[in-house]
Amino acid sequence: MSNQTPMMKQYLKIKAEHKDAFLFFRLGDFYEMFYEDAVKAARELEITLTKRDSGQKEPIPMCGVPHHSASGYIKNLVDKGYKVAICEQVEDPKLAKGVVKREVVQLITPGTVMESNMLNEQDNNYIASLSHFQDGSHAIVYNDLSTGENKAAIVIGWDAVIHELYNQPIREIVISSKLPEEKQTELKDRLHVTLSYQDEVNFNAEYRYLCENLNDERLMKAFSRLLNYIQHTQKRSLDHLQKAEIIELKNHLALDMYSKRNLELTETILRKGKHGSLLWVLDQTATAMGSRMLKKWLERPLLNKVEIEKRLDIVDAFYSGFMERDALREALKSVYDMERLAGRISFGNVNGRDLVQLKKSLMQIPVLQSILQQFGQKQVTELAGQLKYPEHLVELLDSSLVEEPPISIKEGSLIKDGFHEQLDLYRDAARNGKQWISELEQKEKEATNIRSLKIGYNRVFGYYIEVTKANLHLLPEGRYERKQTLTNAERYVTPELKEKEQLILEAQEKSVDLEYKLFTEIREEIKEHIPLLQEIADTISHMDVLQSLATVSEKNNYKRPVFVDQKLRINNGRHPVIEQVMKDGSFVPNDVALDKEKNILLITGPNMSGKSTYMRQLALTAIMGQIGCFVPCDEAELFIFDQIFTRIGAADDLVSGQSTFMVEMLEANHALSHATENSLILLDEIGRGTSTYDGMALAQAIVEYIHNNIHAKTLFSTHYHELTALENSLPRLKNIHVRAEEYEGNVVFLHQIKEGAADESYGIHVAKLAELPEPLIERARTILEQLEGQDRPQPTKEKMETGQLSFFVDTKASSKKEKLQTHDHKVLEELKTLNLFEMTPLEAMNALYKLQKQAKA
Ligand code: ADP
Ligand code: MG
Repeated sequence: MSNQTPMMKQYLKIKAEHKDAFLFFRLGDFYEMFYEDAVKAARELEITLTKRDSGQKEPIPMCGVPHHSASGYIKNLVDKGYKVAICEQVEDPKLAKGVVKREVVQLITPGTVMESNMLNEQDNNYIASLSHFQDGSHAIVYNDLSTGENKAAIVIGWDAVIHELYNQPIREIVISSKLPEEKQTELKDRLHVTLSYQDEVNFNAEYRYLCENLNDERLMKAFSRLLNYIQHTQKRSLDHLQKAEIIELKNHLALDMYSKRNLELTETILRKGKHGSLLWVLDQTATAMGSRMLKKWLERPLLNKVEIEKRLDIVDAFYSGFMERDALREALKSVYDMERLAGRISFGNVNGRDLVQLKKSLMQIPVLQSILQQFGQKQVTELAGQLKYPEHLVELLDSSLVEEPPISIKEGSLIKDGFHEQLDLYRDAARNGKQWISELEQKEKEATNIRSLKIGYNRVFGYYIEVTKANLHLLPEGRYERKQTLTNAERYVTPELKEKEQLILEAQEKSVDLEYKLFTEIREEIKEHIPLLQEIADTISHMDVLQSLATVSEKNNYKRPVFVDQKLRINNGRHPVIEQVMKDGSFVPNDVALDKEKNILLITGPNMSGKSTYMRQLALTAIMGQIGCFVPCDEAELFIFDQIFTRIGAADDLVSGQSTFMVEMLEANHALSHATENSLILLDEIGRGTSTYDGMALAQAIVEYIHNNIHAKTLFSTHYHELTALENSLPRLKNIHVRAEEYEGNVVFLHQIKEGAADESYGIHVAKLAELPEPLIERARTILEQLEGQDRPQPTKEKMETGQLSFFVDTKASSKKEKLQTHDHKVLEELKTLNLFEMTPLEAMNALYKLQKQAKA
């Protein structure tokens, strides 16, 4: 380093403090990167890698981005999970002695972005911190810097930590560098988040008020870790941070990480988008704040019946008051994202337009209150009462800011006339000056008789009188001073004009400066009331989510559930998402019944018949009920589940792809070791990932274990037909199946759940539906016939129990029928493919002749 230039020495020194970030090193109009940063950034950002000749043997790799367009590049890197340290020149280069002083002014990380172009308005952007303790407990704190939200929870056991963190939309986790290496790796690999380190967990007294609700030393540690990290990276005001609230995990329905994903609560597995998820169906919110809150509700459904009923009561009132609800939605649409706005006010990056939006949002409050009153329902009236109207802020904003301020806050035209005396004086001076000038123009036109004479203004020369060359002869010699010559015109000034110009410019400059000062004062005044704004935002979000649930419930004809003990009964239940996707009303409703006597349903039926749909439908219905929404059915008596576990067999688990049998078993184990008799377990075709006997033996053992030891409400779908014999040995297990019928050689799925076991395997029919080559299908049929011809042992109860299991499913002879149909079928298929509209009558005759011949053969 000794033979580096002084600037490179400075660079290396700063870089050493920011090893895990791209260092954007400000050099004039560019942010430059060097060495490894440059090589990596050039690749990630697809920009040119150059070299800086340092006078050493090896030139230094370098690349850069223009300062004015840096935000796009920063976003790109942060989206990929990287951190960017912004290093600015912190003294005026002209005044600098030696190398200009530079400092990192902000560290932009995935969990701390504030810029609206880097945030999705409907999603929270969480950063979390984790502290681990000797007794195996962990403290987790979440923060969304854009909204100021802080939440804290104690979690027991590492496994639970992973499940908890996985279910939240976190981008970054701050941990201790002492967290064991393998745990760090697990966080990185399973959660795909950026890891950051902060070992300083001493409490900063400045933030005492944020911790009022935290009654546990461990939570304080985790929270301090987080606050120290945020302060260290952001280096600016954090006045909008809200008091941390404790999340009592035991008060919420726990969803293991597989459930949230498999049930596609907030995003679909394949596309990763909201479209097609439960959130997509339920989200009729009118504000971005409401949309974010709905997502949080879905991630943490309730357990407390009183709280659930309270939400349902309001949903119920909103449901019936159609006109009022419509008015409510309209009013909500004019409410801006006050939650994020509060954050930006605190950070000091709001403009006039933002504050006008804030005013308009606040002005909706009396409107919202009066609409809520109209429902005439107790809880709704209470909700109206919670909503406070900060009249003084509305008055301040209304008297100060013009209705349509410019984007910039440094160029004036923000503040209304009459708001500030001195500003009015400056403005008058400027206006009078301009008036004087326009009068001068008129006067000079008349005096010189030059109609095209005009007075203009530009930044370089100020005000001037312009006369076109063609009219110069009309101008008396020496009337004005010549200032500038253009191709077609001459420009002049007069001493009086210059004098007025001076006055106008001075007044304008002063008024622009004053406006900026006034604007920041207004902003600071509003900043004092951030907690109030956040409280209002919270109440409005609540209202919005509840109206959304009511709107969806009414639109999709959902029914209010009743909560009962140890029993669950759904009459004509539907899958909330598939029903919407099918739209045409062709979704087939089904009943579900579970109670103490029968708490395991073993579901059989052909592939594609609707087993998985039926199982997920139950879980989704339970979750909807527990967030306080009506549910898709004709009638529902629901049970409040404490946890939901889902495991989709490896063969069906399209996405994880790499999903091995080991993972399948690990996940099954998670359910078995945590479920209680109040839990819901969905095991969908478990055991498929290994050889048949093995898988079936395990599947059976798992069902037995749940039946005998856990007593959880369980839905278990299987293609191992032999398992249906379990009904004889397990009293609380009941067989059901999805009905399918064979019709002229094709399988027809009725998607109807019936009691008892399914009795046919429709694999070949499904293959046919998938349009596998006809010869292949025929060959499969032949093989099946041969196999059926053999004297196969039928599975019996004894055999099941000794583990001698038969591979083949008990398909009752449908083969005779099939033999006949194969041939007819081929003719039919050909007939179907004829494109009649493109045939001449003669061609049609020929084709028909051929087909008839085949049919007779
Ligand atoms: P399985 O798990 O038995 O293989 P799925 O549950 O995956 O079958 O269902 C396959 C398809 O059948 C679904 O994608 C859906 O289009 C349709 N389906 C399932 N259940 C119903 C139903 N109740 N009504 C109408 N269509 C259904
Ligand atoms: Mg399935």
